[in-house]
Amino acid sequence: MNVKNKKLIFVSGGVISGVGKGTITASIAKCLQQRSLKVAVVKIDPYINIDAGTMRPTEHGEVWVTHDGGEIDQDLGNYERFLDINISKRNNITTGQIYLSLIEKERAGKFLGKTVQPIPHLIEEIKNRINEATRGSDVALVEIGGTVGDYENFPYLFAAKSFEIEYGKENVVHILVSYLPMPKHLGEAKTKPTQQAIRALNEIAIVPDFIICRAEQEIDDSRKEKIERYANIPSEHVISAPDLDIVYEIPLKLEKEGFIDKLLKRLSLHSRKPDWSEWKKRINSLKNPRRIFKVALVGKYIASGHFSLADSYISINEALKHAAAFLNSNVEIGWIDANKLNEKQLALFDAIIVPGGFGSTGVEGKINAIKFARETNKPFLGLCYGMQLAVVEFARNVCNLEEAHTTEVNPKTKHPVIDILPEQREILKEGKLGASMRLGEYAAVVEKDSKVYEVYKRFGRIRRDTMKLKTLEEFRKGIIPRGSNVIIERHRHRYEVNPKYHKILQQHGLKFSGLHLRSDGIKLVEFIELPNHRFFVATQAHPEFTSRFLRPAPLFVALLEACL
Ligand code: GLN
Repeated sequence: MNVKNKKLIFVSGGVISGVGKGTITASIAKCLQQRSLKVAVVKIDPYINIDAGTMRPTEHGEVWVTHDGGEIDQDLGNYERFLDINISKRNNITTGQIYLSLIEKERAGKFLGKTVQPIPHLIEEIKNRINEATRGSDVALVEIGGTVGDYENFPYLFAAKSFEIEYGKENVVHILVSYLPMPKHLGEAKTKPTQQAIRALNEIAIVPDFIICRAEQEIDDSRKEKIERYANIPSEHVISAPDLDIVYEIPLKLEKEGFIDKLLKRLSLHSRKPDWSEWKKRINSLKNPRRIFKVALVGKYIASGHFSLADSYISINEALKHAAAFLNSNVEIGWIDANKLNEKQLALFDAIIVPGGFGSTGVEGKINAIKFARETNKPFLGLCYGMQLAVVEFARNVCNLEEAHTTEVNPKTKHPVIDILPEQREILKEGKLGASMRLGEYAAVVEKDSKVYEVYKRFGRIRRDTMKLKTLEEFRKGIIPRGSNVIIERHRHRYEVNPKYHKILQQHGLKFSGLHLRSDGIKLVEFIELPNHRFFVATQAHPEFTSRFLRPAPLFVALLEACL
């Protein structure tokens, strides 16, 4: 589609946090993308952290890793899963980043003696960042985290308003995603908090174009009229968005409400009706599955108030659903606390996943789960820490390396099969915890005669060395010998399989199906498998970060297929 002027859509939240702004934003973007518009999405997190790398997943949900090594709030994951595009870390803006950049410029004398102030400098910095992150798009969606009326998101709303002058009012849309509570004793959805959220926007001179009403149930006409009467938003611009079982149904619901047509009209965009057939087919699989796979996710679950624990493994959760829908099935996930593991319980599952993690909590339980999977021929997938612990288990119980361990848990172990590389140790000594991580995309050279190769090949995910070899080399300093087959996945970890133990592990039958070859000659293990097992595969990477609704991650599909 040919769009003359770039359009900007701001999505803010009303009444409470956690109303699902992220999935609504992803869904609107999807609907526009389905109409051949080039969309860009930006997430603003008004906190002072530079990124989510230092945040506790049990409080904030999972840390999402971008292809370029960003550690971000999980909303970017939603965008990628819906849109099937790679989104850069630049598309996540935090208050910490904005201030850091302003202060650095000030110290460098870039303001030429001026007083540096929130208005105009802070606002300009925000606007520049949004413009940069959305360059080249037809429509840019900007999700402003937090709730309108919050002290910290004021500058972002101010910037959103001032874009109206830069782009023209006709090219800027403000959407408020609000929440309508339904107190049990009243039995009806209340609009008052939403009216107040609209008023909070009005204080910054923003008149929302659309109100998306999140609620347990459908919002009826009389509620919509109330919002029209009390807040001057035409009732046909008040959109009902009740809770749905499957998040991928939200775009279809927005279409059904006529919202997308109204949005396009407001932005003077014309388009043909999109084709949702494949999307609907996958949803239908989840709703009417041929089979339900039962997968045990053996993790560390630390209760933190009422926080939903599933959120700390959301990408794995979604990757399993994507894979199941691809196989006309659905999946039931058993959240197994590694601290309270028992084999009888594990035996009830079709497959076992040991996900990523940090620290010593639940480690022995995870190792026992891996042992159980290996010995009983149960399909197993190890992700990051899950792979490291699979190596520990193999070293202890197959190679007879007594008390083998990762130095993350036991720094004094006799057999440090998982360890930190010497140069990382130096970085850590300087106290730079973040800089010692392998973050973002890395290339693995895979062996053709492996399960890993077979399944990645089937999904068109094997790249030949001829493709962009130079760029890869440049940005991840890997060596890719001529003729090799390459898999690229995202990483977030500090420890590696200790090169000193490669030989003994291999001699006892552990297959290294993929290696990252560093230019200094060090080989890092990326994929392992057991050739004589039904499916025992693990990876140092996080393949869950490249799983998309219509394009599942190969290893998750292979894990479920192995259950059949
Ligand atoms: N704790 C391990 C490491 O730092 C694994 C990290 C992870 O699973 N993401 O290497």
